[in-house]
Amino acid sequence: MQALRLIFLGPPGTGKGTQASRLSRRFGLTALSSGDTLRNEIRQQSEVGLSAKAYMDAGKLVPDEVITGVMLLAIARLPAGSGYILDGFPRTVPQAEALELGLEARGAPIHRVVDFVVADQVIVERIASRRVCSNCFATYNTRFFPPAVAGVCDKCGGEVVQRADDREDVIVTRLATYRAQTAPLVEFYERRGLLSTVDAAQDADAVEQELLRVVSALGAKA
Ligand code: AMP
Repeated sequence: MQALRLIFLGPPGTGKGTQASRLSRRFGLTALSSGDTLRNEIRQQSEVGLSAKAYMDAGKLVPDEVITGVMLLAIARLPAGSGYILDGFPRTVPQAEALELGLEARGAPIHRVVDFVVADQVIVERIASRRVCSNCFATYNTRFFPPAVAGVCDKCGGEVVQRADDREDVIVTRLATYRAQTAPLVEFYERRGLLSTVDAAQDADAVEQELLRVVSALGAKA
């Protein structure tokens, strides 16, 4: 079974995005990041982007119906039989319910949900030093993984900046939002027998090894 359909759950700054691209490359999956999708909509100044921007800048969640519509459409647009990793979606119980219904209708339910667990203090430190390319959204870290030329993306030459919502005051709001609205999804997926946990405080290679164990238990081969 190569058409894996996975959800990566966990607060911002736990390395979900990094692991989603690593695993996608290895297994030929598509990484669908809800945050990147929304940032793309903002860049294109679409109606969705314009309505989402104020919520995002404040570290709040955009309304369920907006993000659910965007992400179900992104899944529907994948070539038939594609595997994918949802990174950052769903983030509330109503979103999870809408996703479940949408996928049931397609006869292609989620195989596994991976919860990335890290202490809040570590997250705040990681996000404060996170930087992102304003063009291709490649991520960097001023301490562990800076671009070769300061402020310039290694991959596309775009400008590397700090996201407005990665400032320390906004991070605290995003973490509080996570605990209040997204953490209940752990129980939601546990009840369905779909949940696995990884210790995301480890370095990226060790986290990847844990993920590979989860995925190989599903019968997938790279
Ligand atoms: P991220 O890049 O995943 O941290 O997402 C950045 C921002 O986009 C979040 O703080 C929210 O404002 C918005 N966002 C991303 N995914 C969702 C979602 N599933 N539900 C609501 N808002 C979202």
